[in-house]
Amino acid sequence: MSKTSIYGLTFEQLTSWLVEHGQKKFRAQQVWDWLYKKRITDFEEMTNLNKECLALLDNHFYIQSLKQAIKQESSDGTIKFLFELQDGNLIETVLMRFSYGLSVCVTTQVGCNIGCTFCASGLLTKNRDLSGGEIVEQIMKVQQHLDRVGKNERVSHIVVMGIGEPFDNYSNMMDFLRVVNDQNGLSIGARHITVSTSGLAHKIYDFADEDIQINLAVSLHAPNNELRTKIMKINKAFPLEKLMPAVDYYLEKTNRRITFEYILLRDVNDHKEEALQLVQLLKDKRHLSYVNLIPYNPVDEHNQYQRSTKESIVKFYETLLNNGIQCGVRVEQGSDIDAACGQLRSKQIKAKS
Ligand code: SAH
Ligand code: SF4
Repeated sequence: MSKTSIYGLTFEQLTSWLVEHGQKKFRAQQVWDWLYKKRITDFEEMTNLNKECLALLDNHFYIQSLKQAIKQESSDGTIKFLFELQDGNLIETVLMRFSYGLSVCVTTQVGCNIGCTFCASGLLTKNRDLSGGEIVEQIMKVQQHLDRVGKNERVSHIVVMGIGEPFDNYSNMMDFLRVVNDQNGLSIGARHITVSTSGLAHKIYDFADEDIQINLAVSLHAPNNELRTKIMKINKAFPLEKLMPAVDYYLEKTNRRITFEYILLRDVNDHKEEALQLVQLLKDKRHLSYVNLIPYNPVDEHNQYQRSTKESIVKFYETLLNNGIQCGVRVEQGSDIDAACGQLRSKQIKAKS
């Protein structure tokens, strides 16, 4: 029987598993403390468990499956980790420092099948989904790094914006969210976690119905179908007339704000005309909308795109603001270490091949 990651279990799942295997219920809390409070990396370190329980855990689960292949630190404090999975696949995880805390960007899939034309991850196509445990372990590896540095720093925020489409790996993503949010574990607040989707409308309905207050970001990138389909082929399956009703359902159900991500591509989607169309698209929900304007991070293989000029970014921003749409321009982190989505990984793969 092959082992699975212990990080893939929610507290309830761990409790049932231990009871089913003849252990007392209270063991679950002990194991949970070792994993998420003391953050050990070997079952042997769980010194208050008896031998039988330790052997049981060791026979069925592993704690460490990610191997750190590369760690790059940027001058602004951003750290990018490249991890090798047990099957040799590579994924990346980024730690970013903000005034409000430390945020980690996690990967949910090896590659991505959505194939957005501006994105390095989309170039590689999906090889497989990550398990819930592999997603949790990314946070653990970063937190263990911080523990070793010894400044008593905690990961306080998570963005599910690394490689992959989280809503294409929905149930593993939900397991991950429940584990990191667990109050007796890492206890990262739901309002401090944001999941970004390219717009899988049917999953937005499911997400709205979950009993967990996680923030949602929708990668919009264009205000009309023609342009959006050019930039993101997923718009053929989920055009705006399917996506926007799902957004409305989410807003009505949760009353929580949605962030719309909009990468500004020079002379493609950054004219005043598109800004005004975006205003029209969002005006009936502007009290619950925030547009995050993202300066395009050039990807070698997508040389048809260039970053918008500063002038057009400011103009776009002002047009939205003057028409009552709340918005901001994303501050770049770690651009000197390829910290944009999928870039380090795609470089490594090219170097290997
Ligand atoms: N698949 C999900 C989440 C991962 S991508 C999604 O698309 O939303 C996370 C964010 O990174 C998206 O908003 C995406 O548009 C952005 N991104 C991807 N490539 C980029 C690039 N080259 N420059 C700037 N942002 C990029
Ligand atoms: Fe996939 Fe998101 Fe990249 Fe699009 S932007 S290819 S959905 S990771």
